[in-house]
Amino acid sequence: MKVTTGANPIRLSDYYMPTLKETPADAEIVSHQLLLRAGFMRQTASGIYSLLPLGWRVVQKIEQIVREEMDALGAQEMRLPIMQPEEMWRQSGRWDDYGPELMRLHDRHDRGFCLGPTHEEIISALIAADIKSYKQLPFALYQMNTKYRDEIRPRFGLLRGREFLMKDCYSFHACADDLDDYYEKQAVAYGRICDRMGLTWRRVRADSGQIGGKVTAEFHAIADVGESDIVYCDCAYAADIDTLSDEGTAREICPLCGKKLQRARGIEVGQVFQVGPQYSQTMGASYADADGSEHPPLMGCYGWGITRSLAAAIEQNHDEQGIKWPLAIAPYQVVIIALGDSDQVAEAVQNTSTQLIAAGIEVAIDDRNERPGTKFADADLVGWPYQVVIGERGLKAGTVELKERSTGEKREIALEKVTATLSERTRRPDSVSFEKSKIHE
Ligand code: ATP
Ligand code: MG
Repeated sequence: MKVTTGANPIRLSDYYMPTLKETPADAEIVSHQLLLRAGFMRQTASGIYSLLPLGWRVVQKIEQIVREEMDALGAQEMRLPIMQPEEMWRQSGRWDDYGPELMRLHDRHDRGFCLGPTHEEIISALIAADIKSYKQLPFALYQMNTKYRDEIRPRFGLLRGREFLMKDCYSFHACADDLDDYYEKQAVAYGRICDRMGLTWRRVRADSGQIGGKVTAEFHAIADVGESDIVYCDCAYAADIDTLSDEGTAREICPLCGKKLQRARGIEVGQVFQVGPQYSQTMGASYADADGSEHPPLMGCYGWGITRSLAAAIEQNHDEQGIKWPLAIAPYQVVIIALGDSDQVAEAVQNTSTQLIAAGIEVAIDDRNERPGTKFADADLVGWPYQVVIGERGLKAGTVELKERSTGEKREIALEKVTATLSERTRRPDSVSFEKSKIHE
């Protein structure tokens, strides 16, 4: 599904995309450097960023992928407040437990609030007021919202911000089997989100593996800048090394298949969690069973880092020249680079753009009054998946140059073949329609 109808191309001559020649000195990692250099975002304060049009566009692409996967599981999108009353956090015990990471503030009447780092309290208090009967269960609600955490070390740009975007979903169930079932569906959807975003990822066991321990899994994008040390096996086993004992072979041999484990750094992009009755109990949520007995609904929580996964995608897809956006989350799929200002070039650019848009392809036109070298360098920096270079010389022979950013492959093709070729290349392999399903079949 497209974010917009893409009815019009963007024209870089009047697009807000301020690129930088130099790498900003305080940006330590590639995703942070490239997001600044290519004009996707700017820092406003430590760990707080303004997303410029290109950056916001990628966020919307990621959100749409996540939305389709959540809707397909019958979860319903909604919106919870960011500003949350101290009272509710006292009720759960987390006003004190959360510590200095919780951003706290007071209103004019001196009532305490925090800016939500997560929403278990708010959602549990919300459903406590409305859910009375087992007949109302199960259900799942989710939102895309801004989260606040006063991280001790905000760093690495969007990877660890103090203000960031998260998708958080909460499901409520009458019995443990049902929660278990839905949790697993969410985990499968998380794998699909990773795949659709073009990430190389592992589903990582984050629990201690002990019976009675929390049931949870983390999804990690493999990248050297990741803060987690994980071991994994071809058989799909993966674990955070911190959760394994250092005795015996736990860190070397796969407990499932006996092969030697591999090691990598991972960026946690998402986490699924069977929380159980905890917040229902503290926030006073309870439903009556068929026999009239009262129980706390069992909760599952599923968090996905929208902005963090955006940065992770760049960590995995870049080279010396810039970003190589995976097609599904690229701000636009194709840039048409116009060389020279002859009428012939302008006409070919206009026609090609119209045809591509009619074929459902998103188009940017580099019509800036810049040298060809600058345009080529910027196109590689920004990372549009395909570049179509239209110049007078080629047009004489009826050809243009087509470059694929991810492979670097360049070739001359006939002008009239551009749309057919790009339609073929930009077709989504898994382009199925996502029908909304119920949380239960
Ligand atoms: P971390 O261990 O990296 O601090 P977390 O386990 O505390 O993260 P969760 O509470 O599981 O984070 O939040 C769900 C998701 O939100 C994470 O998997 C991550 O993708 C994202 N996220 C968490 N903290 C940040 C942050 N400071 N900046 C950007 N994204 C974040
Ligand atoms: Mg986590």
